[in-house]
Amino acid sequence: MLTPPQRSNLPQLVEPRRLVNQGVTLTGNIDRKLCVRFADAVIEISEPIEAELIFDVADQGRKVVHIIASTTVLIACQRCLEPITLPLAIDTELGIVWSEDEAKSLPKDLDPWVVEEETGDIAALVEDEFLLALPFVTYHPEDQCSIVLSPAPIETIEDESLNKDEGIDNPFSILEQLKKQ
Ligand SMILES: [Zn+2]
Repeated sequence: MLTPPQRSNLPQLVEPRRLVNQGVTLTGNIDRKLCVRFADAVIEISEPIEAELIFDVADQGRKVVHIIASTTVLIACQRCLEPITLPLAIDTELGIVWSEDEAKSLPKDLDPWVVEEETGDIAALVEDEFLLALPFVTYHPEDQCSIVLSPAPIETIEDESLNKDEGIDNPFSILEQLKKQ
């Protein structure tokens, strides 16, 4: 019986320019243990980080890497602080450059991957892209959040007597009363 091959972890360090020259595509998982900054930004990286890195030559002989990656994280809802399961996906292309100076020569729509030596850290690369992909704020959908923002849900039309007394708790009407005094 054949079993499907296990996706193995990709190496952390690669020689990106050599991989471009060879037209290599790397497919595998990024070891989550290498992504400390990403792990710190969420509650947990709950699924393997699956990645495909396509090393290629683009216009004008420019060396690029196309990154397609996905994972799932648990991240805190900023309303109730309970975890949210959040799938993340990356699909981006970066220009491989030696320096920040060289990065300035890239077209505006191509972000740089600055690799100052022969070898580059693809775990850090993918991790950085996931950090950029994290939403600025995260909330549960309102019907799934344990904190409901709308006024007390028990309030119904029958509670009209409560509404009449509302003035007591309303800070503005307290102010009004103070002014009158
Ligand atoms: Zn919530």
